[in-house]
Amino acid sequence: MSNKTQEILDIYSARVMPTYAPSVVVASGKGVTVRDADGLTLYDFTSGIGVHNVGHCHPKVVKAIRDQAATLTHCSNLFANAPATALADKLVQISGLGGKVFFCNSGAEANEAAIKLARKWGSAEGKGRYEIVTMRRGFHGRTLATLAATAQSWCQEGYDPLPVGFAYADFNDIESVKAAVNDQTVAIMLEAVQGEGGVTPATQEFMAGVRALCDEKNLIMICDEVQCGMGRTGTWFAWQGYDVKPDLFTCAKALADGIPMGALVSNEKFADVFTPSSHASTFGGNPVAAAAALAVIDIIEEEGLLAKAVETGELLRAALQAEVDKYDKLLEVRGKGLMLGLVVEGDAKEIVESLRAQGVLALTAGEHVVRFLPPLVLKEDDLEEVVDMMSDAFDCLFGE
Ligand code: PLP
Repeated sequence: MSNKTQEILDIYSARVMPTYAPSVVVASGKGVTVRDADGLTLYDFTSGIGVHNVGHCHPKVVKAIRDQAATLTHCSNLFANAPATALADKLVQISGLGGKVFFCNSGAEANEAAIKLARKWGSAEGKGRYEIVTMRRGFHGRTLATLAATAQSWCQEGYDPLPVGFAYADFNDIESVKAAVNDQTVAIMLEAVQGEGGVTPATQEFMAGVRALCDEKNLIMICDEVQCGMGRTGTWFAWQGYDVKPDLFTCAKALADGIPMGALVSNEKFADVFTPSSHASTFGGNPVAAAAALAVIDIIEEEGLLAKAVETGELLRAALQAEVDKYDKLLEVRGKGLMLGLVVEGDAKEIVESLRAQGVLALTAGEHVVRFLPPLVLKEDDLEEVVDMMSDAFDCLFGE
């Protein structure tokens, strides 16, 4: 580690609370790569954890941010602004849900808004119902309510008492969901592709089963699209890859390409559950973030990135499958589009470290899954280079 990186990390560890333990300092990003503080270029197959779907510093996003920053950076939510209004219209249009949008600043906040909306509806039309069924190995955020919704003990430990009102079921097991529903249940919340929990796609039967159960019991179906949304799996939102429509969905991360922004999108039925003053966020619908998000949506449309997520995803999947066929310790490739997980026998962290030594940033998703979330703008020649680097990493780890 050079002086510059070490210098920054020393101050970081002295002054930043240790919720993370970084060993790389990212200084800049361009397209599918980032540069560290010492000028070393790395392929970013994390997209900043599912954020840079259109790549780092896309010129159109940079221009949109610059132009908007020079025009209006904030106005209170007592007033409307044009970029957020246009974005709400666009999100309703590309989702086809026909309802309305609430803007906030992160994935956890978007899910918090979904939880509050479900409870508000449940306290009136839902006849006093408040409980939300969520899936084991799901992930919904780190606020107290979204942590309670996140059925994973590793991130809940030490935070008791967590808010009540959540029941857990097994993902892809509709009987388990049915068993978790009771007279208090108001909603079912899930990711169409679980990200943090191991890059596991829902089955078609499961999504259809959840929808049917919600219809039968008058429950709200909520999809958390924070990680799998914004084109990552080859459709605008991952639930669109299934033959069902949720009542509400949330998105954040890639929405504004790194400018903090979250959104809760509803269908018509739930569009007016929130009323004036019933929920709010000072920065929600920030015009700079909204301008960035409008640019992101334009880029995804103009550059055909939904189709590219599928095509490039197939190439990456095939390359990973070739490695699985070669080494016993690599067990399976799963996921959708450019949201792929490599299931391994040992510690996924070791593989992530070895990939980094070759020049590729990847993530873990639990103990045994290496997660790949490259930008959707990834070109074939860059992918080929990364595939070679990955082969070298696996060869170093598992070769004879
Ligand atoms: N929901 C999902 C599916 C996520 O993957 C995440 C973050 O990883 C969140 C919610 C929380 O988002 P944020 O970190 O923006 O609060």
